[in-house]
Amino acid sequence: MKYISALLISIIIFSACNNSEENQDTKPNSNDKDSTLSEVDTTLDQHTLSNYMDVRTKHLHLDIEVDFENKQITGSVTHTIENLTGADQIVFDTKGLNILNVKLNGEENTEFTMGDYDELLGTPLFVGINENTETVTIKYETTEKTEALDWLVPSQTAGKKQPFMYTQGQSIFTRSWIPLQGTPAIRITYSAKVKVPNQLLAVMSATNPVEKNESGIYEFNMPQPIPCYLIALAVGDLEFAPIDHRTGVYSEPSMLKDCAYELADMGEMVNEAEKLYGKYLWDRYDVIVLPPSFPFGGMENPRLTFATPTIIAGDRSLVALIAHELAHSWSGNLVTNSTWNDFWLNEGFTVYFERRIMEAMFGKDYTDMLALLGYQDLVRTMSEEETDMQKLKLQLNMKHPDDGMTDVAYEKGYFFLRLLEQTAGRDNFDAFLKGYFESYKFKTITTEEFKGYLETNLIKPHKLQVNIDEWMYSSGLPENCPKVVSKLFNAVEANLEQFYLTNDVNSSIFSKDWTTHEWLHFIRNLKEGTTPEQMKLLDDAFKLTQSGNSEIAAIWFEKSINFGYDNIDKELEAFLIKIGRRKFLMPLYTALAATPEGKEKAIAIYKKAKPNYHFVSYNSIDQLLGLK
Ligand SMILES: [Zn+2]
Repeated sequence: MKYISALLISIIIFSACNNSEENQDTKPNSNDKDSTLSEVDTTLDQHTLSNYMDVRTKHLHLDIEVDFENKQITGSVTHTIENLTGADQIVFDTKGLNILNVKLNGEENTEFTMGDYDELLGTPLFVGINENTETVTIKYETTEKTEALDWLVPSQTAGKKQPFMYTQGQSIFTRSWIPLQGTPAIRITYSAKVKVPNQLLAVMSATNPVEKNESGIYEFNMPQPIPCYLIALAVGDLEFAPIDHRTGVYSEPSMLKDCAYELADMGEMVNEAEKLYGKYLWDRYDVIVLPPSFPFGGMENPRLTFATPTIIAGDRSLVALIAHELAHSWSGNLVTNSTWNDFWLNEGFTVYFERRIMEAMFGKDYTDMLALLGYQDLVRTMSEEETDMQKLKLQLNMKHPDDGMTDVAYEKGYFFLRLLEQTAGRDNFDAFLKGYFESYKFKTITTEEFKGYLETNLIKPHKLQVNIDEWMYSSGLPENCPKVVSKLFNAVEANLEQFYLTNDVNSSIFSKDWTTHEWLHFIRNLKEGTTPEQMKLLDDAFKLTQSGNSEIAAIWFEKSINFGYDNIDKELEAFLIKIGRRKFLMPLYTALAATPEGKEKAIAIYKKAKPNYHFVSYNSIDQLLGLK
């Protein structure tokens, strides 16, 4: 996740789509000759109760109304289906939904049954079909148990006057606002008619309006086939500002100018990305900046990246996140992991691609800093995760896919690809990657299929020796993990040593020109045993507690908790109540919970903050604080 897209041309896109619709969805096949390791025979999606191998949706149409008063979505979804095996029933995933009635081919109501509820996967919906069934229409409504939706009251928005609602589909949450086959293994096109209060604007991961209309009714179309976790909707007091001919930003009116300033490089990013790995195939690339409760940095909903406002730092220093979400337009959205066990195929490639975009735009020194920060994240994650979760190819079994969304997928995946680049040479690797995206566009892929493709198209032709199995299937970090050296960070480390020798914060050792990343490196590397007095010296000199930069503030607060520096209490509480981004919340609550007094404080703050968090965040924190 993290992400971004104009009026490019439908002929190319339509022809690409049509081809891909014919070829799409290499079927998960447990007899695949490339699946050499029997213990990782996890090529079928375990996180769906649907019978997508027999009968599947090709297209779905939503006709819904967003009701803020009752915090509910009501309406219908019509599935246009393809019956591959002559099945006499179709099974959909649902979770926390009321199913009201079901119609076949738009006609008479038909009988349906609900299966047993499973806490992880939800409730299957069984509908009898026959060989003449082309469409299945399900009338339904969401409930307060719907995990995908975040309903914000006006006070939780920037403008404070209108409510806001957004969806989060990844990983398996879409089934909680639309009854469908909740698997990334199949791709669908969609269209939608959405009614919202007429003072609000609705936008989706589809063709989008740029202004409100009086009826409050908006129509959407997504002609390229996507996995269902990318169906997304946001409704609020939104306005649009163009960046260039095919990129732009949506946000609440009061934030729009700042957002447009921060994201001014977006058009150029798309150009750079295209130069690297081929044409951008989604027409427009827009970003919506959401209210602070959004649980992720970004979500790569196609055509419309959903982004946290915590990237609006005022100095464009956190736009790597946009490069990341944009890169997903190739890795993730164009070529999609078949199951959540293969999540690294989405994220590892995206981190690699993100850093290549950043290198093209801002140079190698800058990107080395990003890679080294990523390496530090990875080392930390490796020390915390159980060994099974340290593998690129996961075996989640009945674990929630969100448990696999760790730095292992992102950063170990990145370093594996960087090793391949290093071994093959950049030109060869770039040609390989371009071919990969071309060969698998609008398809889904497993780790085993990728391994076969890699061996055939890179390893054998260039006669390379790479310990692929160790990287994909073993825990820990292989010894040949590429080493990143950052000149700029070396200088920061020298400054850090100097600080511990002299406690001097006024000398020239501290550069006024440090970027966010240099500050992050400095704070992250504060030594065990740093005293509250030393923290105060730094704080007085550099106002770190008051930092408006969310990345800097979050790591500063974490270190302050660790070192017993408590001048941060007021700002820490305000930060935890305002920000819902899980990446920041988890380390802070973890640091607090390390002592009994800290845990008491954490629970007191959490009580106030929880209403501002999305399910994705509070579900994790409930577990962390032992409240669940
Ligand atoms: Zn990502």
